[in-house]
Amino acid sequence: MRTRRSRCPGLPSTLVLLALLSASCSKVSAPGGPPNPSSAPTADHVRTFLTGANDSLLKLGIAASQAGWVAQNFITDDTEALDSRATQALADAAAKYAKEAVRFDKVDVPADLRRQLDLLKVSLVLATPSDPKASEELTRIVSKMRGTYGKGRWCLDPAKPDVCHNIDDVTRVMATSRNEPELRREWEGWHTISPPMRTDYVRFAELSNAGAKELGFADTGAMWRARYDMPPDAFATELDRLWAQVQPLYLELHAFVRMKLRQKYGDVVPEKGPIPAHLLGNIWAQDWSNIYPLVAPANADAGFSLTDILKHKPVSPLDMVRIGERFYTSLGFAPLPPTFWSRSLFVRPRDRDVVCHASAWDIDAATDVRIKMCIEQTAEDFSTIHHELGHNFYQRAYKDLPVIFRDSANDGFHEAIGDTIALSVTPEYLVRIGLLKAAPDASRDIGLLMTRALEKVAFLPFGLLIDQWRWKVFSGAIKPDQYNAEWWALRLKYQGIAPPSPRGEEFFDPGAKYHVPDNTPYSRYFLADILQFQFHRALAQAAGCTQPLHRCSIYASEEAGKRLNAMLAMGQSKPWPEALNALTGSKEMDASAILDYFAPLKAWLDEQLKGQPVGW
Ligand SMILES: [Zn+2]
Repeated sequence: MRTRRSRCPGLPSTLVLLALLSASCSKVSAPGGPPNPSSAPTADHVRTFLTGANDSLLKLGIAASQAGWVAQNFITDDTEALDSRATQALADAAAKYAKEAVRFDKVDVPADLRRQLDLLKVSLVLATPSDPKASEELTRIVSKMRGTYGKGRWCLDPAKPDVCHNIDDVTRVMATSRNEPELRREWEGWHTISPPMRTDYVRFAELSNAGAKELGFADTGAMWRARYDMPPDAFATELDRLWAQVQPLYLELHAFVRMKLRQKYGDVVPEKGPIPAHLLGNIWAQDWSNIYPLVAPANADAGFSLTDILKHKPVSPLDMVRIGERFYTSLGFAPLPPTFWSRSLFVRPRDRDVVCHASAWDIDAATDVRIKMCIEQTAEDFSTIHHELGHNFYQRAYKDLPVIFRDSANDGFHEAIGDTIALSVTPEYLVRIGLLKAAPDASRDIGLLMTRALEKVAFLPFGLLIDQWRWKVFSGAIKPDQYNAEWWALRLKYQGIAPPSPRGEEFFDPGAKYHVPDNTPYSRYFLADILQFQFHRALAQAAGCTQPLHRCSIYASEEAGKRLNAMLAMGQSKPWPEALNALTGSKEMDASAILDYFAPLKAWLDEQLKGQPVGW
């Protein structure tokens, strides 16, 4: 996860988007009008405007980052107030510049200036209407929905509030319980938090659409899709194309997991139909890793535990970060600056509470990059360090561009980079850096591939459908009296998942997923999931890896490092297909790298599924 401009799926809100969301009525001239009624705007006006926007966004961004860092490291009412004030100031400025940029639509300017104007216009996640009353109402609704989710808990016995479950408790039960009635109760319990959001969501969609229309977009969904350097409808078609590439693999994974769950839970799991949503180890059925023990291939145990190695050697948390840094320097990147080491948070402080969720920070959009983690000596944290540092090295690569360009090529790219590097944390890499004596032989690969597929392949249809639902809600194709029915129709269509009990329109099940009440676009996570395999394949080829793709690590390949840096250094100064081309040699997103990566698992699944039903 990364603060300010991006985040990982399922995680709490980061700051800039939150800021943009809560942007309230800024005092700006009506969009479309010239800067000065007496003269039409010129290219010089645009230059002056962009210089001001770059300076102001940088200054406010630094202030908001510093306030956010302190608020998360020293949690008090005062730091929270300082943080929200700084965040609001940044949000107001971003909203102001987005609306003002519309004035220059007809001015003839060089391409890089035009791109900066365009990026300002599509930077908003939520456009507040210019009518102050409507704007205030929209801002209030969003924070109310967010609050409803944040305070969400369900109580088996209202007389005993200390046994009520919040999302952490729900997550733990879903991950660890193998008791079907308990899982059903937990699933139904959590989905009682969202019906109160239902009428709010209807009004929210109306008001946010009004704001998007003022900026020239058909609706809020079209505004979100406009961020991808292509017409909004073409982007939707593009996602469908990528999904069609990976769907056959997903169908087999789904069929195999269904078969195994049926062996475990009996007739609750149909032989041919959709999988009940409460049995996949996760409240949203978006990541199935937790049920690995139920589906583990026989004799495919890796034979070593990285967690045990890190604990027994021992490798300290700081050393784990140094190993992560060395991965990037081995590719040719400059080492992290001294301030990274003196200002980051690596271990949980003994004297106070902090927000421990792993994040990467870019405080000054220049050299002051940091991570904030409470590192444990586990394989998961080892991989997360490589992921978080990916954000930091991306941030350093684009630091010399104009401020508006200092971001990833599109919002899927930032998360994808860290994950790309994490794909290179292979057993053979562990051997090369001296943590492991010998890598397990290829017969053990199926276990590792199954683990990865339960996380990455299982996620894809979920990553796609959240915005499929919202785009249709915003466009009016899904009416309020069909919210829940259409939600479950999409979950059935893409995921092959069904609710454990009937879900009428008295429920509002989309609201039980954080990103819906928080109003965070979700397609980025689908893109990141696709792109990381495409990046990994291209970099592995550049590194000269001739092994099966899942065994390739780009560690110590300067050639791969050069290709990676060529893309990172572009930031978002060019349309994303050009950035993609710099790394992969292709301007097209391509999900076939996922099929390459999981090819041995696919062959194994083919065998296991002989005579078994596939699909639902
Ligand atoms: Zn991340």
